[in-house]
Parts: sequence; C-alpha cells; structure tokens
Amino acid sequence: MKQLTSYEVAQIQFDKAAKLMNLKKGLQEYLKKPNRELVVNFPVKMDNGEIQLFTGYRVQHNDNRGPFKGGVRYHPNVDIDEVRALASWMTWKCAVVNIPFGGAKGGVTCDPSKLSLAELERMTRRYITEIRPIIGPARDIPAPDVNTNEQTMAWMMDTYSMEEGYSIPDVVTGKPICCGGSLGRREATGRGVMFATKEACLQNKMKLEKCTVAVQGFGNVGSIAAQLIQAEGAKIVAVSDASGGIYNPKGIDVLKAQEHVAKQKSLLGFPGHNKELKLLELPVDILIPAALENQITGDNMKNIKAKIIVEGANGPTTPEADEYLTKKGVFIVPDILANAGGVVVSYFEWVQNIQKLFWDEKEVNDRLQHIIHRAYGEVAKIAAEKKTDMRTAAFVLAIGRVAEATLVRGIFP
Ligand code: GLU
Repeated sequence: MKQLTSYEVAQIQFDKAAKLMNLKKGLQEYLKKPNRELVVNFPVKMDNGEIQLFTGYRVQHNDNRGPFKGGVRYHPNVDIDEVRALASWMTWKCAVVNIPFGGAKGGVTCDPSKLSLAELERMTRRYITEIRPIIGPARDIPAPDVNTNEQTMAWMMDTYSMEEGYSIPDVVTGKPICCGGSLGRREATGRGVMFATKEACLQNKMKLEKCTVAVQGFGNVGSIAAQLIQAEGAKIVAVSDASGGIYNPKGIDVLKAQEHVAKQKSLLGFPGHNKELKLLELPVDILIPAALENQITGDNMKNIKAKIIVEGANGPTTPEADEYLTKKGVFIVPDILANAGGVVVSYFEWVQNIQKLFWDEKEVNDRLQHIIHRAYGEVAKIAAEKKTDMRTAAFVLAIGRVAEATLVRGIFP
C-alpha cells in the first residue's frame, strides 16, 4: 500500500467523522483545509561565518473558536505537508478538550543536533522575526514541539518582545518559569498521557498496577509519561529513542534512564541497550507511541500485541493500522485526546500571563486532570452512542464544536 502523507492521514480521519455527522459539503471542505499558510526562506549566519538558508513554516488551520495555537518543530523531515497535518490536529485537539483556541503549527526544516547553541538561537530569532506578522498573544501563540524546548521559547518571547519594544510573555507558551512559564507545563503532555492511560484502564476493566507498558520515544512526552505511569504502579518494561531501546520484562528504572539521557543525550550505552529493538511489537498490555508520526502501520500492525494503545505522539497510527487494530479489539486512545495535556497547560500558562497571577503546581495538575477526565468521558459517550472508535468519536466531538462556532459566527461578509 502506498504510504500516505500525514496530511492525507489527517484528512481521512476528518472525512470519516464528517460522514457520520452528515456535515454539509461546503462546510466540510472549509473545515478540512488550513486557513492560512506562510512559508519563509531565511538566512542564518553560521559560526564559521558562512550564510546558510533555512526554510520555515507556520500553518494556521482554523481560529473560529479562538486564537491559533500550536507548537514549533525543528526536524529534517519538516515540510509543508507535515505542518498542515499537525496544524489541523491542533484545531481538533483544542476543541476536544474545549479550550478556547484554534489550531496552528510551525516548523523549520533542520537537524538541530548539527547546530551549535548560538546557531540555534540565531535561527530561532530569525524564524520568529519572519513569521511575526501573523503571530501574537491574541492571534497565534507558538509553543514547544519536537526538538524545541523552554530555551527556544525564551528566545522566541525575547525576540518578539524586543521588536515590539516591551515584554510580551503571552506570545508563546512553554517558557521557562523565570520568564513567565507555568509550573507543570514541562510535564503536562506526559501527565495528560498518564491520566488518559488511567481512564482507558478503568474503561477496559484493567488494573494499571498490574499492567506492563512499552513507551516509544524518550523525549519530553515519552520520558515523563513513563515516569508518571511507573509512579502509578505499572511496570515499564521497554523504552526507546532514535538510538534504539531497552527491554527488561522485570521492569526498567525510568529515573535512571532519564539521568542517563540527561548526561549522554540518548539511551545509547544504558545497560541492556539494543539498537534493533522492535519496541512496538513487544508482548505488553499498554503501548505508548510517543515519538513521531507513521509508526504503527501496515508493516507492523499484525505483530502488535498490546491491548491498549495511548497515542502520546501526533499521528503515530496510519488509518490502515487503525482499522485493523480496532477490528481486532485493540483499544486506541487517539492523539487529539491522549496528548492534549500539553496544550491544556499552555492554555493555563497563557491565562496566568494575561492575569499576571500565577497558580501553584497542584492547581495546574488538578485542573488538567479535570479537563482530561471530562473530555475522555465526552468522547467515550459519543463512541458508545455512535458505536464507533474513540478516534472517530473525538473527531465528531471536535468537528461539532468548531462547526457550531463557525455557523453561529456566520460566514463573513
Ligand atoms: N506541541 C504540542 C502539541 O502537539 C503543544 C502545543 C501547545 O502547547 O500549543 O500538542
């Protein structure tokens, strides 16, 4: 089967739900397509004095429910198609958890491991300057994604602020605490994955404490999800990153693996490390893909043994694998619900910045749990009513909310 692009995957998921909802054709076409796409080619002065050209993107999918919101990704595979898909998933994600944002995504095609810190800073500052006409605290609010972090957000916030002439913390979220970040934001996506995993266990009458779990990806999402799920009593038997993985049926000490990665930058060299580990195919109860798109596919779907899949990454499962596994009885908690914790706490950060009043970490985490619990219940209810899977139900809920806002606002002019 021809490999679909991420944007084609996002459109297939959208169409499946739209069909169930009998959405009118014109509205369906409108909600599927991004509203605005900006491509920027810009120069960066490298440490050796030479000029290197970079290509960056900001795709704004839909803002009918509120300002555009979504992360910025630095990766060699970033292209307009991937950014389009990720932008549209942000629209549905914000709508599923009912926070007042639309969806956007940005990215720069680059390999950050080959850039020095100074080059990364100059690239980030120039990228933000290039997309500045379309972002802003009431317009479009970037955040971290793959290979961007608190430091990247601090540079973005500083660049935007310098150009405006005063400090504007609410232009990005995921900032360091010292310049307006929220307690709990760094852990929020992983924590949301943990809450979604608990909900899925409850619904499927499985005891999380008795489950074995494999986590693909050991970045901000996977490593924190593994840590928090281990703290809930489950056994993390496998973790992996781009270097390979570790499988230990007796359980892995996640904190030790985190310490190793903090020093060595990857899992390479951790006891038991195996470059060839096929983590997704291991005999586990719960599988958490928390790396990139397009991981669970027609090529490996028949070898998947997990009973529950919780999508920490955006778009890890292709429609073909999704259909096969769902028919087989595997329970999949879709990305737009499972990994929404990050953008939920981004919303809290933005609110705290606007109010200039900061919450303690317990308040952040309690409110996050409440929102994931509420959204999970609403999605599960639609899945039962419409006799469909959780992904389609999540899309039905999200598209319904965006469609309602669109129709009530009316089509301008
Ligand atoms: N990049 C994250 C996501 O895919 C977070 C986006 C945000 O906080 O705006 O959901």
